[in-house]
Amino acid sequence: MRVLIVEDETLIARALREGLEAEGYAVDVSETGDDGLWRATEMSYDAIILDLMLPNMNGYVVCRELRKQGITTPIMMLTAKDGDFDQAEGLDTGADDYLTKPFSFVVLLARLRALIRRGPTERPPILSAGDLVLDPSARTCHRGDDLIDLTPREFSLLRYLMHRVGEPVSKQDLIEHVWSDDELDASVVQVYVGYLRRKIDEPYDRAAIETIRGIGYRLDASGG
Ligand code: CA
Repeated sequence: MRVLIVEDETLIARALREGLEAEGYAVDVSETGDDGLWRATEMSYDAIILDLMLPNMNGYVVCRELRKQGITTPIMMLTAKDGDFDQAEGLDTGADDYLTKPFSFVVLLARLRALIRRGPTERPPILSAGDLVLDPSARTCHRGDDLIDLTPREFSLLRYLMHRVGEPVSKQDLIEHVWSDDELDASVVQVYVGYLRRKIDEPYDRAAIETIRGIGYRLDASGG
């Protein structure tokens, strides 16, 4: 079993390496995000332990980049206690598990074993409607060859509409699934749909997001 540790804090990296080697793992250590990314793409590992806060390239970016390149090695993210970690974002980028520092080595070992046993996990499927393509793991949106830059909220909104492509989706559904806030005013949904249209439809002279009067919206399966 070969494990890659990407961690810039020397003491933690050393303790992890020694602990894992004592358990019979072969261990490589990268101290920066770009070196970790390089190793993980060049070599084959059974698991990657990836620190979130790293010099020059943070753990989210490393994780997303690996998944984008089709590398499905299980990833455990290490995060600081002060709440710099967004669990949803971490899992969205393709991490399989996460552990908050300081952690007990015994717990890490157990979780690592479980992760390796489970093997490479399936990535959420790529969603498409005609030439409009959304990749939830890589967090990218394309219209044809164009990469479209979406804010996290716009991305979630489009993802939900694409998830239910061809179906009418009520504003209430969107409020519950995209904002998780029952009190939210429906006009906010309208505003965000407007933002999305300006990015995915108007520049291409398309109309993928249809308004259904009195209900909400429908994403045209043909991409508009
Ligand atoms: Ca760090």
